[in-house]
Amino acid sequence: ENLTKEDVLKLARDNDVQFVRLQFTDIFGVLKNVAITVKQLEKALDGELMFDGSSIEGFVRIEESDMYLKPDPSTFVIFPWRPQEGAVARLICDVYNPDGTPFSGCPRCTLKRVVAEAEELGYSVNVGPEAEFFLFMVDERGLPTTITHDKAGYFDLTPVDLGENARRDMVIALQDIGFEVEASHHEVAPGQHEIDFKYDDALTTADKIATFKFVVRTIAQRHGLHATFMPKPIFGIPGSGMHTHVSLFQGNENVFFDANDKRELSETAYHFIGGLLKHARSFCAITNPTINSYKRLVSGFEAPVYVAWSEKNRSPLLRIPARRGVGTRVEVRNPDPAANPYLALAVIIKAGIDGIKNKIMPPEPTDKNIYDLDAKERNELGIDNLPADLIEAVQELQGSKVVREALGEHLYKRFVDAKIMEWDKYRSQVHDWELQEYLTKF
Ligand code: ADP
Ligand code: MG
Ligand code: MG
Ligand code: MG
Ligand code: MG
Repeated sequence: ENLTKEDVLKLARDNDVQFVRLQFTDIFGVLKNVAITVKQLEKALDGELMFDGSSIEGFVRIEESDMYLKPDPSTFVIFPWRPQEGAVARLICDVYNPDGTPFSGCPRCTLKRVVAEAEELGYSVNVGPEAEFFLFMVDERGLPTTITHDKAGYFDLTPVDLGENARRDMVIALQDIGFEVEASHHEVAPGQHEIDFKYDDALTTADKIATFKFVVRTIAQRHGLHATFMPKPIFGIPGSGMHTHVSLFQGNENVFFDANDKRELSETAYHFIGGLLKHARSFCAITNPTINSYKRLVSGFEAPVYVAWSEKNRSPLLRIPARRGVGTRVEVRNPDPAANPYLALAVIIKAGIDGIKNKIMPPEPTDKNIYDLDAKERNELGIDNLPADLIEAVQELQGSKVVREALGEHLYKRFVDAKIMEWDKYRSQVHDWELQEYLTKF
């Protein structure tokens, strides 16, 4: 929806909005809110509201801390859950420097820049995500546990758990604020759910992913549950991914489709796939940004471990779903919902575009189950592994000009520094697994 400043002011008046949350994300994709009263709304829409950026992780040094929030009027949403009086709305913002230029640490501005690069080539980018999450019980003090009481399996129709009720309310709330929910189901693991919404242009989808996580958490809380987008909360059962479907359009035409090709894929599609495969190891730190992310990327749970593509199989990094025509798309299967949606889409699009610009042809698709191949067979087919852990992923990122360019220097540096610190904290810890393994053995 294309709302103007005037539309937003009118909607706020007509719906008795009292408070507006100005939202943006830090480099880790954590949603930040600056709450204002409706009296300040006009000033905010004019981009005149300042905040102290030094209080936000990964933003700026103290001495250059004044930042401006520029709300995007088309993101105006009135929350369906109402307080006693009045209503609460939100606007998603870009972050600007005092001199009126986009702040280089703003993830939303970063995605806009990469999308503009695709537009220069004549393409609009469409993205549809499949975000998975767990719903856990909270204990008597209200703290989250990793206990789930549901016994329903994949697509189970009997609503035997609290999770079903919560998920239904999530879908209703999402629809209320303009999401077109295409699918919503119980996932493979106990307590695990997925809600899919219709694809949209990349920026709108990134906004929607940020909003989605916030709505899911809010509704879960109202049902006395804790929703988590942590990629692998429990060892031995599937983790939560966020498969990301991408296609390029020119007008109403999907340019990945070519009826004359043996796979009905265009040259542009092949090049996009080639770029994704080439840069996958380097963008993994962004699409899979936590220590825990790499505990999901192991064999045995339909999560990708290898850099390959397929039309049939769900084990490689990329799958080309069977749909052709306007539905022709690439499914990128490694991202997880802990990723900053703006940065994850930025690096994926950048990688694909680099493939187009440099006409990178992918190798033949792998239609075997890669998990069944041994290292030698994979080697012969030129199939690489995804990074095994966060530090390997960060090192790959450090070696990549293309991904670094997608992020921009400021974001790149802050991100790498923060992730190296995270790794150092983790590796100096003594974990339960080590005690179980070594305490009595040595
Ligand atoms: P899966 O088969 O992996 O479960 P789905 O068929 O459920 O995938 O589709 C997942 C996502 O793909 C949805 O968000 C859907 O809107 C999106 N999608 C469909 N067509 C396109 C397209 N042309 N470009 C990008 N995303 C698309
Ligand atoms: Mg799905
Ligand atoms: Mg599906
Ligand atoms: Mg799924
Ligand atoms: Mg999928």
